Parts: sequence; C-alpha cells; structure tokens
Amino acid sequence: MRATAAAGTEPRAPGGRGPGSWAPSFLRDANRRRLRATKMSGEMDKPLISRHLVGSDSSLAEACSKAPKVGILGSGDFARSLATRLVSSGFSVVVGSRNPKRTAGLFPSVAQVTFQGEAVGPPQVIFVAVFREHYSSLLCLSNELTGKILVDVSNPTEQELLQHRESNAEYLASLFPTCTVVKAFNVISAWTLQAGPRDGNRQVPICGDQQEAKRTISELAHAMGFMPVDMGSLASAREVEAVPLRLLPSWKVPALLALGLFVFFYTYNSVRDVLQPYVQEGQSKLYKLPLSVVNTTLPCVAYVLLSLVYLPGMLAAALQLWRGTKYRRFPDWLDHWLQHRKQIGLLSFFCAALHAAYSVCLPLRVSYRYDLVNLAVKQVLTNKSHLWIEENVWRMEIYLSLGVLALGMLSLLAVTSLPSVANSLNWREFSFVQSTLGFVALVLSTLHTLTYGWTRAFEESRYKFYLPPTFTLTLLVPCVVILAKALLLLPCLSRRLSKIRRGWEKDSTVKFTLPMDHALAQKTSHV
Ligand code: NAP
Repeated sequence: MRATAAAGTEPRAPGGRGPGSWAPSFLRDANRRRLRATKMSGEMDKPLISRHLVGSDSSLAEACSKAPKVGILGSGDFARSLATRLVSSGFSVVVGSRNPKRTAGLFPSVAQVTFQGEAVGPPQVIFVAVFREHYSSLLCLSNELTGKILVDVSNPTEQELLQHRESNAEYLASLFPTCTVVKAFNVISAWTLQAGPRDGNRQVPICGDQQEAKRTISELAHAMGFMPVDMGSLASAREVEAVPLRLLPSWKVPALLALGLFVFFYTYNSVRDVLQPYVQEGQSKLYKLPLSVVNTTLPCVAYVLLSLVYLPGMLAAALQLWRGTKYRRFPDWLDHWLQHRKQIGLLSFFCAALHAAYSVCLPLRVSYRYDLVNLAVKQVLTNKSHLWIEENVWRMEIYLSLGVLALGMLSLLAVTSLPSVANSLNWREFSFVQSTLGFVALVLSTLHTLTYGWTRAFEESRYKFYLPPTFTLTLLVPCVVILAKALLLLPCLSRRLSKIRRGWEKDSTVKFTLPMDHALAQKTSHV
C-alpha cells in the first residue's frame, strides 16, 4: 500500500466540472452538518447505536433532510453501518432496497429507505453494498445510474479471487460503462463503521480511473473520520480487494520457524527426560510432558530465536566486508531474513514470557511437593540434618537474576518495536535500543543459560542416550553471533565496515547499478 494520502483530501477550489464539481459545496455543507450532528449525537468516535439516531431527535432529522445526499444500494450489515456513520457525519442517506418495507426499521429513521430505482435518482455518489454475484441484478438501473459515482465496497472470497481474472470493481465498471467506479471502504468492516474509526484501522485505500471521482470519495472518507490512501487506478482494485484476505503475511515464516524449533526441542527434551528414564530405568515420567518438558523447551526456542535476530546482521556485515561494497544486493534469503527480524524478536519475547510464567508455576505442581517430601524423608533417614550446598545456592541466585534481567531487556525491545513508541524515538535512539540493548539481552540470556548448565556439560551422567544436554545445543548459534560481533568490534574490521557503509568501495571499478528487477530493488534493505 502506498503511504501517500489520496490526492485531494483537502477541499477543492469551487468551480470544477464533472462528477466531482459538486464536491466542495457538498462537503462544506456536510462538514457544517456533521458538526451540528456531532453536537447533537455526541462525540463522533463514540460507538453509534442506530436507535440513538432515531427520529425522536427532530432537529437531527431536520438537519439530515437538508444535508447532501449519499445513496446506498443494499440493506445488509454493511449498508446499515455505513448509513449510520454517514448520518452521524452530516450526510443525508437514501437506501435502495428490493424490499424497503422489510428493512426500513433497521436503519436510522433519518435515513430514507426506498425502492432501488427511487433511491439512485438524487444522489451523485452511490455505494454498492451488494455481493458481486448480484451486480447484474442492478442492470435495470443503468439509465438512472448514468454519470454517477459508484463506490464498490465488495470483498471477494479467496476462491473468488482465484476464480476471476478481473477485480469486483472492474467487473462493476464493465457492467456500468456510463458510471465512474471507485473502489473504497472494502477494508473497513461493518463493525468499524458502526463503532467509529480507531487509530489502527483508519486507513481507506481508494482506487479509480477518474481523478475527480477519487477526490470526491477521498473527501467523503475524510468527512467520515477515515484516512484515504490513494492506490492509483482501478487496475489496483485486485490488490485492494486482496488486503482483507491477508492473514498476518509477515508472521508466516517467523511463526513456522518458531514452531519448527519448538517441535525439535520438545522432541529432544522428551527423549532425554521421559523416554530415557522409561527405557533405561523403567520409570514413567510421562507426567512431565504437559508442563516440565514445555518449560524446558520454551527457553531454548526463545534463546535461539533471539540469536537469529542478530545473526543476519552479522552475515550482512561479513558479506559487505568480503565484497568491499554496500552497493550490491544481498541474496534474497538474507534480505527476507533481515526484514523478518522484528517478528522473530517478538516471538522470542513471547516464548521467554511464557517460560517465566511456567517457571512460576513449577512449585505449584503436586509432583514437586512429593519430590520435596521424599527428599526430606531421605534426609532424615540418612541422618543429614542440615542440607546446604553453597555452590548450588549461588548458582541458582545468579541464574534466576540473569533470567529476570534478560526478560526485562526483551520486554524493553518488544515495547520499543510498537509503532507508537518507535515513532517517538529518533533513528539513533531506536538503533541503540534494538541493536545495543538487544545484544545485551543476548549476552544476559547466554549467561543465564551458562549458569543453568554450570558443570553439567562435563558430567557423563548428563549425556542420556549419548545426547548432550539441551542447553549445550542452544548455545551454538548465540555463541557464534556473540563471537562474530566481538570480531566486528576489532578496529581493523569496524573501521573498514563503517567506511563501506559510508559509500567507500574496495574496487573503484565497482559502480552502483540498479538491479534489473526494480521492484526487488525497492524491497532491498541496507544494513
Ligand atoms: P448482506 O448483509 O448479505 O447484504 C447484502 C445486501 O445485498 C442484501 O441485504 C440485499 O439488500 C442486497 N441485494 C441487492 N441485490 C440482491 C440480490 N439480487 N440478491 C441478494 N441480495 C441483494 O451483506 P453485507 O455484509 O452487507 O455485504 C455487502 C457488501 O459489502 C459485500 O460486497 C461485502 O463484500 C462488502 N463488505 C462487507 C463488510 C462487512 O463487514 N459486512 C465489510 C467490507 C465489505 P436488499 O434485500 O434490501 O435489496
């Protein structure tokens, strides 16, 4: 989605021609009426209940009857919420239904609900709030719709998106060649329309072939409290229609990575902690699967994920040093990895937070209490009155403290990755938190893991089924990252790297050239 707001979100100078020529006065009137309606119906952002706008408020009804008219075809969920928001934004609404008698009661009483043919007469802007398969049933209105702006709000299903080559909006435009079709509001749910725009979902992508019509709809969206975003011509409608179908696309790979690591470490820990005691000692430790094994798995995933946030940066630096230039694209896999660091870091924080919560629950287990009692009995039987191993006490104190510190640092990283917080920091502050403090979190986590392991890596009994203790496996990638970072801090390397990042090139014959695929070039990040 292009970040530029739609051209013409400001009111146009009067005297324009074409469908948009009525827009300025239309919107000026609407704004005036919106202020009045807002005063009468309370804050615009407050949830709107259609009953609230019912005609008992006669002054509101009078204001709406004089307001600029907007038409809506269809009387479903979307049409009802749209009508409510339009009325509260100072517009007069006329709804076209096949059965107005049945549906009129569901709309604010100030909205006029009538037959389709009657409804499309007066308004210049008409929202088509019906599904694609019913567009053709509106063909009988072709004459009345001539010269009007049709706003296509529809969303295809995933299957429809694959099935049809043309977008819903292009299809509507092909059915009504005498109208101007604008795609808009499809990303806004009926609920959002009803409740009022909120920060997170205020953007309304708009596309269409006619600049004036797009400007009119942008101004309308603005008047309703939304933020129009120009997506270009109607050919972009397919892209706009695909927006609501997306399911966290930037999280797919990081989530799969986290899941893969979880499955690996969970299986590894189960073999060591459950299968080995059963096979070699005949003890059933299956009870460990739901909590204990999960709790030993989560920190492994969190720790490895955290190191995977910093590993691509190291690889990118090594590549730049090797090539002696920053003007060559990173391989695609590295570029994608660099772009997913935020999600990987947040998943690391999520696993670490779960590990902390699970750890707090450990003493609540009945198995823990039995173990404690059994230990006490054993102690009595062996006549050991005072059990205190100084080394273990120290190890545990340090281990826990480092874990809490690492979690605190990770929380800080997670908070600063929130757009609202990140936007309040300048680039240096953001990079200090994410890069420097992030590394501190990685070092603290490494120390936390090392104090957990202590001498266990050197005890033969810890190698169950000849498998090394899990913590030794988790240490591999983070230690490589920390070592690489230490190497990059060496003056000879850090000086050369900073020269490269300021544009210096080893080989003067290497010149900056755009890759053949310019779209790919735009996605390239430079570390
Ligand atoms: P809906 O509740 O099923 O309403 C569809 C309306 O279409 C019906 O109430 C009907 O009104 C009208 N219609 C006109 N000709 C029709 C015909 N031949 N057969 C059946 N119905 C006909 O659906 P909706 O949720 O309001 O969605 C309407 C459009 O908005 C869809 O294109 C949808 O993709 C889009 N949209 C919806 C949402 C949402 O949150 N609901 C969000 C974004 C976009 P009459 O019976 O009065 O004619």
